[in-house]
Amino acid sequence: MCLLCDTIHTLSVHELMTTMTDTLFEKIIRGDIPCHKVYEDDETFAFLDIKPINPGHTLVIPKTAYPDLFALPQETFLAMMRAVHYLVPRIKDAVGADGINIGMNNGTAAGQEVFHAHVHIIPRFEGDGHKHWPGQPYDEGEAEEVLRKIEHTLLA
Ligand code: AMP
Repeated sequence: MCLLCDTIHTLSVHELMTTMTDTLFEKIIRGDIPCHKVYEDDETFAFLDIKPINPGHTLVIPKTAYPDLFALPQETFLAMMRAVHYLVPRIKDAVGADGINIGMNNGTAAGQEVFHAHVHIIPRFEGDGHKHWPGQPYDEGEAEEVLRKIEHTLLA
């Protein structure tokens, strides 16, 4: 019998399903995958991004897994924001950053790769070379049309 088969045989069905279906970040919270842990409270967990944009790049995640912001309950998102608010000035001081970006990719179209909701805290340094996204002005009447669509969804 192989080692993997032995291991599978010692797991309950629940443990086996949990191991198979957990997100990468749930495995990190559990300690099954190593990380450089930055912070933890009852609802959130934060650790260094494995491929940092700059040193100190940190991910803040909810301990309960939701794929993205569209699925997050408001209270869970607020718990994440509380942790972000606590961590941002401390990380800035720790790495001597000049500024901080916070960001959240939601959906593959937005560049999301790990489907366990997370907020990026990204220290920024004068002259670090990272560019902002290019913006472009609305065409004539386009802003009003977009605003009408948004207002319609807000009233629904
Ligand atoms: P996103 O594109 O917003 O889904 O970003 C996912 C982030 O997770 C990327 O910045 C990755 O570098 C980061 N990441 C992936 N695997 C790990 C890991 N094992 N430990 C820490 N960060 C990770």
